[in-house]
Amino acid sequence: MKSTLFFVPALCLAALTVGSVTAEDAKAKPHPTGYTDTPFLPGDKWRVHDDTRPRPEVITPGATASEAPSDAIVLFGGKDLSEWTTEDGKNPAGWTVKDGYFEIPPKGEGSGTIATKRAFGDMQLHIEWRSPAEVKGDSQGRGNSGIFIMENYELQVLDSYDNKSYADGQASALYGWKPPLVNACRKPGEWQTYDVIFEAPRWDEQGKQVKKAYITVIHNGVVTQNHMEYLGGTGHKKVAQYHQHPDKLRLKLQDHGNPVGFRNIWVRELNLASQD
Ligand code: MG
Repeated sequence: MKSTLFFVPALCLAALTVGSVTAEDAKAKPHPTGYTDTPFLPGDKWRVHDDTRPRPEVITPGATASEAPSDAIVLFGGKDLSEWTTEDGKNPAGWTVKDGYFEIPPKGEGSGTIATKRAFGDMQLHIEWRSPAEVKGDSQGRGNSGIFIMENYELQVLDSYDNKSYADGQASALYGWKPPLVNACRKPGEWQTYDVIFEAPRWDEQGKQVKKAYITVIHNGVVTQNHMEYLGGTGHKKVAQYHQHPDKLRLKLQDHGNPVGFRNIWVRELNLASQD
């Protein structure tokens, strides 16, 4: 018993000594910021942990996942539609701006699909939407809109909460092609988020397609499309097809005759081809 009492404090003292020596060592010997003697990555100009490899640009993220980071282009920040026009690009967008959001108006009162003034290719897109709190209509007639990326590739917006409609027409579907992995729709009238990563299709100089369009979608925090290719430009009751188009095109929001609301829209342009 006596010897046990002696050894326990002795062991504790030994542990403390070891701990303090380790801390001292860390202080005296800073961690390397990188290496110049490690093997090269396969087919690459950089070594593993290369100290000369350029560090990523520093940006400031939004305070929440809904808020725009410092390098984003804000397409709607709550006040006006100055970044948007009518579909033909000739007039200011006429949708109704209310308390921090905007909404598809009744027919004839500024209605019709709208488009951004700017054009985009590869991008990260954040957009929030809500279907009308008062449920009217059914299937594709209920809370229908859509986000046409590069004017061609629809990410469907629909009130898919307890609303039976075809699988490839649900909220978060690549309309007419791929249903979402799950139905993550919130109730009518509740704000919903889409966080999207989109890769633009590409053609070579001879007009041969060398890459399809790809999309990843997170709907209300849930993955609903994972790096899914688009079959082509979206159509209704027909198989989608690609048609060669410029490297950058506008975003469009579809007017399908239902008063769907939108808010907090921002885009980060991505230059994926140049990632070093
Ligand atoms: Mg639609």
